[in-house]
Amino acid sequence: MAETAKSEMSLRDFFGPQGLLARCHPQYEFRPGQLEMAEGVERAFHEKRHLAVEAGTGTGKTLAYLIPALRSGRRVIISTGTKNLQEQLFFKDIPFLQKHLNGEIRACYMKGRSNFLCRQKLYDLENQPVLKGLEELDHYARIRDWEKQTETGDRAELTDLPEPVPLWPRLDARRDTCTGQKCPQFERCFITGMHRRAAESELVIVNHHLFFADLAVRADDFASILPEYTAVIFDEAHELEDVASQYFGTRVSNYRLEELVRDTENILSLKGLAERRLARLLRQLRTQAEGFFELFPAEEGRFAFDNREQFLERAGEGYQALLEKLRSLEVALASLREKPEEIFNLIRRASELRQELKFLLEGQDRAFVFWFERRGRGVFLQATPINVAQILRERLFERYDTIVLTSATLAVGGRFDYLKQRLGFRTAEEKVLAPHFDYERQALLYISEHLPDIRTPAFIAEAADEISRLLEASRGRAFVLFTSISQMQEIFRRVAQRVSFPLLLQGTAPRTALLDRFRQTPSAVLFATASFWQGVDVQGPQLSSVIIDRLPFAVPTDPVVRARIQALTEDGHNAFAEYQTPEAIIALKQGFGRLIRARSDRGLLAILDNRILRKQYGRLFLESLPPYRVTSDLSEVRRFLDEG
Ligand code: SF4
Repeated sequence: MAETAKSEMSLRDFFGPQGLLARCHPQYEFRPGQLEMAEGVERAFHEKRHLAVEAGTGTGKTLAYLIPALRSGRRVIISTGTKNLQEQLFFKDIPFLQKHLNGEIRACYMKGRSNFLCRQKLYDLENQPVLKGLEELDHYARIRDWEKQTETGDRAELTDLPEPVPLWPRLDARRDTCTGQKCPQFERCFITGMHRRAAESELVIVNHHLFFADLAVRADDFASILPEYTAVIFDEAHELEDVASQYFGTRVSNYRLEELVRDTENILSLKGLAERRLARLLRQLRTQAEGFFELFPAEEGRFAFDNREQFLERAGEGYQALLEKLRSLEVALASLREKPEEIFNLIRRASELRQELKFLLEGQDRAFVFWFERRGRGVFLQATPINVAQILRERLFERYDTIVLTSATLAVGGRFDYLKQRLGFRTAEEKVLAPHFDYERQALLYISEHLPDIRTPAFIAEAADEISRLLEASRGRAFVLFTSISQMQEIFRRVAQRVSFPLLLQGTAPRTALLDRFRQTPSAVLFATASFWQGVDVQGPQLSSVIIDRLPFAVPTDPVVRARIQALTEDGHNAFAEYQTPEAIIALKQGFGRLIRARSDRGLLAILDNRILRKQYGRLFLESLPPYRVTSDLSEVRRFLDEG
């Protein structure tokens, strides 16, 4: 560990006006919130307790937790919500500390297994006639050359290969196809290397998906991914409930069945075990699976699966036949005279799929909501825990003594009750840091008081007019964020007829390409929904306005949201006040948080949904936002933007 970090220096000696950071950080400014947060994190480590801290943009929160984590002398897992933050920590913050603190920092960066190359699969494919066409042969050759020099095997290093490369899923190091210690490449395997580095590291940087994938299997004491640890720091902790819900639930899709059939065919042919009997069985399984998933409605979206009994009355035969085919596959594979390790993997996968399907169609556990989703070619059957609080309390908060939760958006009305109730922790030191930015001077919040209620048909046309006026005032340079795709498309169409700024629409190009175009095109305006509400960072005047159409309440007909509302209501809670409103407040804070990313940023926030003024709950929204100056006067908006 870095000697300077461990030494008797106080945190003020790092973060204070004459401290180490002041001497070596090019953009140093004294940030009282940063020092306060670092002291809180250090106390949490010393006293072995949990801490929840809301630290707005500009606090410098990553250094505020990295330094106390290093000084603790313990292995600390740092889990982030986005890949961007994971990369920033590993490639920017840690090298910076390494350079200026005296000594080595043992840190590593862990990703999901499908990001890494499986050496064995690469070797197995060599000289196989299964590679299709010149392009695939070329990709194979490039990956093979790279394999000889890469130290990590991380797909991200292959920057000159297109994304996605169809060949990659046949070469990646997924657990499903890995034979672990029985693999001849185990000692040289990139996954083994990643685990070794992690076991030697004091800081292990992961994302929430990997963290919860590990936590879910850790409970079974099988196949842990992360090394042993006693402390965790969750950055972007407002995303934890969503991600945890995915990993403590069950999901079976048509893709998973297709993959099982494809992997079985490949492995049998590779190992010289292909038999007519098995080939016929796999064909039947494929047909049976396709027929079964076709029974689900063609409409795209997420739907409750409340009518499972009626579904089974109708589709029982196809379902039973599918289970039987999976069972037959298990038996047929188990009866092979020669069984390389890969065959045991396939038997396990077929058996897991069969049991999970049974749970999804017949399970009666009231702690889960059963639902399905159709997205493109995919049909996903899911069981999601209605409440992850108890699971997290038992498996996380009561098991590990130091957990730090931080984000720019955790508190509602200055309190953490919502977070505590949803995530299941009871005791923690709680802090809401004073904002580092001068929001009153840097931002103006405009509320369209005169517009009709957003739930009336007149709203769309008036909203399009209002957005056009606001875009004229900000000379484009705006994000216009929506909660529904159809509303976004309709309003986009209308605004496009009124303004002459370059307009970009989500869905017309990949997300990163749209953002690049937005950054590079003067006066551009981006129309977008959910995925642009968070994690997007555009500094400077190119983004001068964020316009939001409505308060971002989750859609109450969504199966998971509906089940959560129902469960709270049955328990005597007020779901609207305790769940829907706080969740929407956090989402609104995230959306508005796109605007002010630096002390020099300045701009307009606008909300077209005037329930924020008219309804009683609106006050809680306003109290939870940073202290923006508020107006409903468009001429004040013009004046403010003209001054900028
Ligand atoms: S140990 Fe698993 S992931 Fe690694 S090379 Fe072998 S099969 Fe591939």
